[in-house]
Formats: sequence, C-alpha cells, structure tokens
Amino acid sequence: MSPCRSFKKMNVVNLLFFSTITCLAVIGLPWYWTHVGISRMEWLLFAWFVLTTGLSITIGYHRLFAHRAFKASRIITFLSLFFGAAAFEQSALMWASQHRDHHRYVDTPLDPYNIKQGFWHAHMGWMLFWSQDTDYSNVRDLAADPLILHQHRYYLLWAITSGVLFPLAIGALTGHVLGALIVVVAARLTFVHHSTFCINSVCHTFGRATYNIDSTARDHWLVALITFGEGYHNFHHRFASDYRNGVRWYQWDPSKWLIALLNWFGLAEKLYRVSPQIILAARLAAEQLRVERALAKHTSAEIGDFLQAVRERYAALKQALYDWERWEKGPRTIRDTATPRRAFERARRQWADFINRSPLIPHTVHV
Ligand SMILES: [Zn+2]
Ligand SMILES: [Zn+2]
Repeated sequence: MSPCRSFKKMNVVNLLFFSTITCLAVIGLPWYWTHVGISRMEWLLFAWFVLTTGLSITIGYHRLFAHRAFKASRIITFLSLFFGAAAFEQSALMWASQHRDHHRYVDTPLDPYNIKQGFWHAHMGWMLFWSQDTDYSNVRDLAADPLILHQHRYYLLWAITSGVLFPLAIGALTGHVLGALIVVVAARLTFVHHSTFCINSVCHTFGRATYNIDSTARDHWLVALITFGEGYHNFHHRFASDYRNGVRWYQWDPSKWLIALLNWFGLAEKLYRVSPQIILAARLAAEQLRVERALAKHTSAEIGDFLQAVRERYAALKQALYDWERWEKGPRTIRDTATPRRAFERARRQWADFINRSPLIPHTVHV
C-alpha cells in the first residue's frame, strides 16, 4: 500500500478558493448584517447547513467511509456524499485516503497533515502550499461503491450543486439570494472548515492524552463542542474503528448519538464498539506510564520502594480488570452481578489513592 506523498507547491486553486470564501465571510458578513440585516430564515438556513454538512463529514466521511465504524443504508450513504460534498473538503474517496494515511503514518512526513511540520501546516497550510500525491490504494473498499466513485469523479458537480446552487435556490425562493451567498455559503463554509481543521491542529497540540501519552493526538472538549463530538482525538487515535469518539457518558458526541439513532431506525447497523474493559485498560496504562515517567525524573533512594509498591497495586488492578472482563464473557451463573466490578473499583481506588497521597508525583491520577 503506497502512502499519500506531499510535496511543497503552491496550490493556486485552493488558495483562490479559500481567499474568496474567507473575504466574503469576514468582510461580507458584517457588512450584510449592519446594512441589510440577517433574517430568521437566513439564520435557520445557516444552522441547517452547518448541521447537515458538518455531520456528513463527521458521521459520513470520517466514521462511515474512512474508518468503516458502522454500516449504513444507501440513503445515509447518499446523504453523506451529497452534504459532505457541500462542505468543500474534497471527495469522500480522497478525504478517506488522506485520513487513513494520517492515522497510519501519524506524526511522520507521510502524514498529510503532520503536526510536526507546525500548527499552521496541520490546520490548513497542507492544502495551500503542499500538493498531495494520492494513489488511493488504501481505499479500494470504498472505490468499489459506484456512488462513492461517482462523487469522486464528478466531485465539482456534486460540490457546487449541493454547496452553492442548492442554498442559493432556497435563498431565491425565500427572497434572500445575497444573504444565502454570504451567510449560508461563505460564512457557513468558513465555520465548518475551521472547526474541522481544528481537529488536525488544536487536537494535535492542546488537551489531554487520556489513552496514549506518546501520541500527539489530544482530547479537547471545546473542539468536540464545535465539531459534533470529534474533539476526543486521543481516544479516536487509540480506537479508530469505534463509532464513538466521546466514550464517557458526559462527553459531547452528537455524531455518536445520531449514529445510534440511525441504528434504532434501521438505517445503520454493525456499530463497532471496543469493550469497556479494553478502554479502561488503555486509560489505566496511560496513567501508570505517566506516573513512571514522573518518577524517572527523581533521584532519591526512596523512589525504588515507592515504584515497586505502585507496580504491585497496578498489577492487582490489571488482574481485577481481567477477572471482570472474563466474568462478563462467561456464563452468568452468579447472582451478584456487581461483584467482579466492585473488586475492580476497589483495586482502582487503592492504586489511585496510593499515588495521589504521595508528594513524589506532581500530578493527580484521574481514572
Ligand atoms: Zn489526528
Ligand atoms: Zn479518524
């Protein structure tokens, strides 16, 4: 499988496109707002297009096409391709190919939006000053779908129809053509673009490494808020095939909720979920590694005994987690269903309290 290769070259088409859209949004929007005013209909259309195009990227381009995290009905595939094209983020085939390379070669020169080349490069510089030599050998599964292939071959037709002509036609019918152009096309595209781009820049720079402390990918709640749940990027890089990004009950992931809703209506199936015990094991391993790295910076003699005691508690914790997982998979003959889980929770408290009480560890263990 050949990776996507990038070489430095000014991309005039992208440069002109982004400059025009940005000028229309940054200059046109305040002018239109103050001189004409934005009607309720225009705000509604803006919200509708942010929702449909943004969700088509997160649910369709990303979780369905790039990661095959679930299977969707043909209508969902079509809607993802139609409104995904309206986001002007390239065809689903090209997007998925580059994104699979991003996961496979993350933080190396073969990663199309490699954060090691700088925040700006990862955000949008890679589209303006770099050309992508994409060979599509990593998306043969997607290319076998005639609808995906059609959207790829006639991408501009799809994008202009869904992203420009469709909103302009609604604007014409409601008497707001100029408003549709400035608010629903330019401002909406600018918002959807930069919120999506933040995943490649902000989420590879700021936030918490919850599941893998050696990855540049980070969990960032604010990015999750503006990207329909895509901000839990450390989790996503660790478990890319899971249809969820925000895996905890309080995390904002409307893309996950919508996929579950589609499943309930019979429009999506085979939603892939990593088991809670495997997710917990990754989180605990990340915390243990963080503690060991913090201890490695100390030189005092007492470190050895403390590290030994932490490792013993961590080994007991892993055993309790394993017992709980084995019990979950085994025949349900025991009446008290909470017993293995309770034993695990007790081991987790013992391990975390022991670390958090020590002045040797500068941070608090969160589990
Ligand atoms: Zn990433
Ligand atoms: Zn991904």
